[in-house]
Amino acid sequence: MVYQALYRVWRSQRFDDVIGQQAITQTLKNAIMQSQISHAYLFTGPRGTGKTSAAKILAKAVNCPNSKDGEPCNECEICRSITEGTQEDVIEIDAASNNGVEEIRLIRERANYAPTQAQYKVYIIDEVHMLSTGAFNALLKTLEEPKKNVIFILATTEPHKIPATIISRTQRFDFKRIATSDIVEHLAYVLEKSNIEYSKEALNVIAQAAEGGMRDGLSILDQAISFSNGTITLENALEVTGSLTYDMMDRFIVACKQEEPATCLQLLDEMLTSGKEPRRLLENLLVYCRDLLIYQKAPQLLAEKAQHLTETFKQSAKEISAEQIYAFIDVLNEAQNEIRFSTNPRIYLEVAVVKLAGKGLSEETVTANQTVADSQEVTQLKEQITELQKEVTQLKEQIGQPQTQTQPAQNKEKKATNTHYRLPKKRVFQVLKEATKKELTSVKEIWGDLLASLSVTQKAMLSASHPKAASPNGLVIAFDYEIICKKAANDQEFIAAVQNNISRMISGYKPDLVYITEESWPILRQEFLSGQEETVNESELTENETEGTEETEAKEEGLVVSKAQDLFGELITVKED
Ligand SMILES: [Zn+2]
Repeated sequence: MVYQALYRVWRSQRFDDVIGQQAITQTLKNAIMQSQISHAYLFTGPRGTGKTSAAKILAKAVNCPNSKDGEPCNECEICRSITEGTQEDVIEIDAASNNGVEEIRLIRERANYAPTQAQYKVYIIDEVHMLSTGAFNALLKTLEEPKKNVIFILATTEPHKIPATIISRTQRFDFKRIATSDIVEHLAYVLEKSNIEYSKEALNVIAQAAEGGMRDGLSILDQAISFSNGTITLENALEVTGSLTYDMMDRFIVACKQEEPATCLQLLDEMLTSGKEPRRLLENLLVYCRDLLIYQKAPQLLAEKAQHLTETFKQSAKEISAEQIYAFIDVLNEAQNEIRFSTNPRIYLEVAVVKLAGKGLSEETVTANQTVADSQEVTQLKEQITELQKEVTQLKEQIGQPQTQTQPAQNKEKKATNTHYRLPKKRVFQVLKEATKKELTSVKEIWGDLLASLSVTQKAMLSASHPKAASPNGLVIAFDYEIICKKAANDQEFIAAVQNNISRMISGYKPDLVYITEESWPILRQEFLSGQEETVNESELTENETEGTEETEAKEEGLVVSKAQDLFGELITVKED
């Protein structure tokens, strides 16, 4: 026998079998019993919540001669032909592949003929939001002139894409995400009927990953069955869904609490190496943090999960403050947004992990909790920020750049409490004065090896950075994130490791490391170039004495450009006054 996917085998055939949509199925049954059948229905809701199943049951129930209490019999010829998809009076259309006007026009024409075998002609249009505007107009005409024995059932996951004129002519039912407990119950039922053993915990994990869709739940279960040796274990489920084990999360959160970035990054590495999916990983950690909060405030609400609550979890709930957990959740949330469109989620995960385990978070928490003593320090920091802001504004004015990056004031103040990094402008300029492309090229060449030579934590920090300029004595490195930049600048071990490894790879080269943020680089570079125009020319001329001093202005400008190219290895525009 050909293998059939579980969700096909277990598709509900009666309204009472549709899981988690009792309000809708009861209303439909009542309507059928009272023969108050509408000529157009709109079923909306997330994928896998039972819309098309309900549509087919409705098609059967209105046509079944033995219909009882609003349910089809599923035995008669008409019911069976509809189940098998061979009933010519029940027409299923996937709008995703038929979005043409012609298609709907055909429907209109055919709708004019009375049903041949069944009592009602039923059109089920799935993914109806995919119809073209022309097709919607044709459909609207059809709905405006309802035929007595024709029913339209429109199904969609995206009701906002359907014209209001259409929606207003339908009876609308919003299908909800199915509760995790309902999914668990149904999966258990399916497994019992199939004589397959399982652990309840495994089903919890699968149901969670299904995110409210029964079809997804059954598909994941299918995979878990093929992974298992006859019994669905928690390990199977974790493996198939790419979820974190409770033990992993316990150890991870403890390491975050103890501010051990190295351990955290090692654990992250372990998780990713064992095939955990970044998106799922963040979600699992978010749920874990949420559970910690719930356990602190209302442990009875976690009764359903009681079997997962390890001693470590309970201990963490006692020891980690709610503020700290909120801070964790913020970081996880942010990372979730960042990886959504990223092709390299690992970097964002690593940055998030460093943040979670970093002192930054606890400082923030402490700052929030502390009173008079520290408010002075905060005031000082705020003053420094204001100063920096002024400087940045001036810089931007100097280079004539619109101030597009001005952030709302409150946002800045929030950052001000712990993360602002003071740019070492003088040291940057020092390096730029003597910078050559040759040095920069050699650094870039060994960059990959340099990363590989560092410890996990150090690697995570440096992988969010790029070498920008190099002189015989200095190297400017720009970090993508200010928080990492600050951390790197204060981490003597990190600085020594980077320096030593560079000098090992480029013999005799031991540059002074100057850290800046990626954001500040274009500004610093421009400021240096415009301020240094004269000196650059002079130094260039002393290096090329043969060319003499009779250069024209144009030639001098050319030299600035070539010097700039020499420094940065790329073309930059020289501002005309
Ligand atoms: Zn029947």
